[in-house]
Amino acid sequence: MSQVPWRLLAIIMLFALLFKASYSYLLTQEENRGMISYSRFRSELAADNIKKIRIKGASITGEFRTKVKLAETIQGKAVVREVASFSTVMPAFADQTLMTDLTAKKVDVTAVSTELSPLANALIFTAPWLLLLGIWLIGMRSMRSQGPGGLGGFARSGARKYTAEEKITVNFDDVAGMESSKQELREIVDYLRNPKQFEQIGGKVPKGVLLVGPPGTGKTLLARAVAGEAGVTFFSISASQFIEMFVGVGASRVRDLFANAKKAAPSIIFIDELDAVGRSRGAGFGGGHDEREQTLNQLLSEMDGFDQHEEVIVLAATNRPDVLDPALLRPGRFDRHVVIERPDWRDREKILRVHVRKIALAEGVDLAVIARGTPGMTGADLENLVNEGAILASREGAATVTKEHLEKAKDKILMGGERKMFISSEEKRITAYHEAGHTLVAKLLPGTDPIHKVTIIPRGMALGITQQLPEDDRYHYPQSYLENRLAVAMGGRIAERLVYGEVSTGAQSDLKMVTDLAEKMVCQWGMSEKVGPMTFSRGEEHPFLGRKLAEEKTFSEAMAWRIDQEIAMFIRRAEQQAEDILTANRPKLDLLAEALQEEETLDGGRVDDIIGNNQ
Ligand code: ADP
Ligand code: ZN
Repeated sequence: MSQVPWRLLAIIMLFALLFKASYSYLLTQEENRGMISYSRFRSELAADNIKKIRIKGASITGEFRTKVKLAETIQGKAVVREVASFSTVMPAFADQTLMTDLTAKKVDVTAVSTELSPLANALIFTAPWLLLLGIWLIGMRSMRSQGPGGLGGFARSGARKYTAEEKITVNFDDVAGMESSKQELREIVDYLRNPKQFEQIGGKVPKGVLLVGPPGTGKTLLARAVAGEAGVTFFSISASQFIEMFVGVGASRVRDLFANAKKAAPSIIFIDELDAVGRSRGAGFGGGHDEREQTLNQLLSEMDGFDQHEEVIVLAATNRPDVLDPALLRPGRFDRHVVIERPDWRDREKILRVHVRKIALAEGVDLAVIARGTPGMTGADLENLVNEGAILASREGAATVTKEHLEKAKDKILMGGERKMFISSEEKRITAYHEAGHTLVAKLLPGTDPIHKVTIIPRGMALGITQQLPEDDRYHYPQSYLENRLAVAMGGRIAERLVYGEVSTGAQSDLKMVTDLAEKMVCQWGMSEKVGPMTFSRGEEHPFLGRKLAEEKTFSEAMAWRIDQEIAMFIRRAEQQAEDILTANRPKLDLLAEALQEEETLDGGRVDDIIGNNQ
């Protein structure tokens, strides 16, 4: 429990005590005074026993000349009390003769205005507000002490400020693998270390860098490592914290965050989950999210507001770059992208090595074996695996963490509740053949783009990826090139069919790509002899709805039928082509698939080595 409720309690107690004290003071005053009836007052006056009175509105207080005995009941008992002073209340009808009687008896009369003094008035009016303010302030403080994002300091960004000397102790050595990503970020480290020199040389540094990759792959870690390497202040916030409770808060948080970062320059701002604010504007059907848009606009204007010499770098992380507002990706904003992928087994081994530093590992545990057995796991998963292993070991009272502990931990993570991207060795084999199919067709068909990389590490929805990179930017696509692309896309499915005798669901996205491409070839690019050089609109896919919006059809049913035939023909032809190639080169397919299962990721050069570069 935090200390704050106690403080609140103490204040309430103090109020209670004060109230009690003043109340009982008033009570004792009251007690020395007798409460008498108006007629009793009149008779005492007639008996000339009133010394002086004080009139305030209808109430009269005063002193007797000699003490008077009063019979009262106090707490059920009859008591007789002697009092020297009294109080009474005048009747509502004005007592016309009172004043003459009072002067006749020479009573000292003071009249007091019923109006309160300005000071008292002011106090009475402000007291409740002061009280509210006090409670609010206390509440604020308590929220703030509970961390960023509470009611307190809501106008302030929840960015935690870590000064370089104190907190950021991680550097690139703590980030295992990811060599290419680190390489890309090194430039930023160099700049932050020595901005002046960097500018003198005329170097131009990106202001915003987007780290793209699945959750747990170490994006936050990498950002922190950049700050650690450069020795600069690190501000981090999750974009979902920008949008918290009240409209307008997000924007002022952004403003605050940037102001702080500029003050502490050179510094790094890290925005996690950028997609939380950065989703395309206007994509929200059924009412946009005003707050999000305001926040996003503020973010954009802050980034544009950087001048050349402001030594602040904004790093942001997301796993959904596809939904980001294009405005965020424009030059001067997040125009540099660093893609972080799930680690391959070599990197997984390095990550394991980093995390076993913290535990007592038994002699002779081969981390490479563990790494090979955990395809699809991210850095966070592997860290978790090591932790689980250590927990298991300590529960057993073992002195060190053995291979068995780690294996058990792996099973626990894989079977435990959440579904991880884990692939059984059979699935791994299917994926390997599938990707090998794409690769081999791409290699053996002339005029296709070179293979950049092929991997069976899952990414997003895909279980594996074959990546081809054109040697040059292309603006014209000849028909033969597109037909080859269709064949390459069919290669995965055909390879599965050759090896297993049936196809699997893994080829869904290939088929979608093939269908879309073939449709464009027929309907938009006039590549079909039978249909001819015309364009036909078959409905554009809406970018956010993910489905086609209905459009008026401007061609006959007969033409629609012909179009369908031609699309199918293009696809069948590509399928046949892929099948011919793969059947004729089955040994190479096997070699590639084996290598993929073994090494998980092959680059273009490695692929050439395996199938023998005999083109
Ligand atoms: P993300 O921001 O991409 O979701 P994090 O940076 O939060 O992922 O990673 C979570 C944890 O996983 C890190 O704190 C770190 O301990 C571990 N981790 C991830 N990638 C690596 C890596 N390459 N090397 C070492 N540890 C890693
Ligand atoms: Zn495929």
